[in-house]
Amino acid sequence: MTSAIMPTYAPADIAFEYGEGIYLFSPEGKKYVDFSSGIAVNSLGHSHPHLVQAIQNQAGKVIHYSNLYKILGQELLAKRLVDNSFASSVFFCNSGAEAVECGIKIVRRHHVQNGNPEKTRIITCSGGFHGRTLAALSAAKNEKHTAGFFPMLDGFDQVSFDNLDQMQNAITNKTAAILVEPIQGEGGINNADTNYFKKLRSMAGEAGILLFMDEVQTGIGRTGKLFAHEWAKIQPDIMAIAKGLGGGFPVGACLANEKTTKTMAPGTHGSTFGGNPLASAAANAVLDIVLDDGFLDDVQRKGIYLKNQLAFIVAKHKFLGEIRGQGLLVGVVCDDSVVNLDIVKEAEARGLLTVPAGNNVIRFIPPLIITETEIDEGLSLFDQACNSFNC
Ligand SMILES: *Cc1c(COP(=O)(O)O)cnc(C)c1O
Repeated sequence: MTSAIMPTYAPADIAFEYGEGIYLFSPEGKKYVDFSSGIAVNSLGHSHPHLVQAIQNQAGKVIHYSNLYKILGQELLAKRLVDNSFASSVFFCNSGAEAVECGIKIVRRHHVQNGNPEKTRIITCSGGFHGRTLAALSAAKNEKHTAGFFPMLDGFDQVSFDNLDQMQNAITNKTAAILVEPIQGEGGINNADTNYFKKLRSMAGEAGILLFMDEVQTGIGRTGKLFAHEWAKIQPDIMAIAKGLGGGFPVGACLANEKTTKTMAPGTHGSTFGGNPLASAAANAVLDIVLDDGFLDDVQRKGIYLKNQLAFIVAKHKFLGEIRGQGLLVGVVCDDSVVNLDIVKEAEARGLLTVPAGNNVIRFIPPLIITETEIDEGLSLFDQACNSFNC
């Protein structure tokens, strides 16, 4: 049967009927260990009682009304994000790409408002990913994603990730901001050391430009800090978040510091659905858990455990190499004798869901609520999948 869904995806022939914790179950009753979390989305796993309850309660009261009126859950959510970050205000939207889009608009308007309308260009890093809208594609300049969709939006320059000289040389009097992920997720869990981000922060400050971080994948506890830039002890001016924020309910947000907040006045930006009562209730429920005492320390501890245990498996299979990432955003690099997707498919057949990333990397992004025993269970399936690739 041909599908009526527009063929932009090539889904595996697997569906899920329900989920519980780190597990998903197919209609045939087959159990899967979920190390994909809907691509870093299901931060609390599946059917988390607190999240389910919050969504049910809110749905029974009011699901949606517009930002023409005050949304108290959204006010609370914004306050909590501000209290726990560098930001002074938050704009809510529905996805990562929209959060990035909002940030791009803030960057441009900030310099207009400050009497520097020539500062319009944003420097991004190769291997980055910012979503699939035209602005996000124009920013990331990934040829696989832009092919067939030209013309791109003007105003983006690109340098190599983790290269300070190139970044410094790319800054001109037309530069408005640097847009960078703390860890390139889609690009292959590409890390840079904390010094890189410290230097980007000082470079941006000296040039009078903004530091805009895309934490759509790394934010909301994924790396063991609420936001990954905290590892470098720096503060961006603008930050996009989304994936883990709603625990599976679509919600994105763009956070701005005091000076960039001032840029945006009534009418400068908007969203019909952004931060509606149901979305805000879901995100507040996620924050209840993630901000709980010790939760993020636990994510750090479990991330180290995952990496250590993975190292034993890597040692057994010669096509597996470097282990990268932070917290529960972990990747392992495959050499060119294998294709990451083949291993992902083999693991899937054995009941483990992982996600391929750029540079032939396999991503392990389990729910943040996973236990060490459950990490062992998933990794054992991964080890078995790898066994069928040993020559
Ligand atoms: C997933 C992702 C996006 C895009 O998010 P969507 O919700 O798919 O629009 C943007 N930036 C990063 C870093 C991402 O990982």
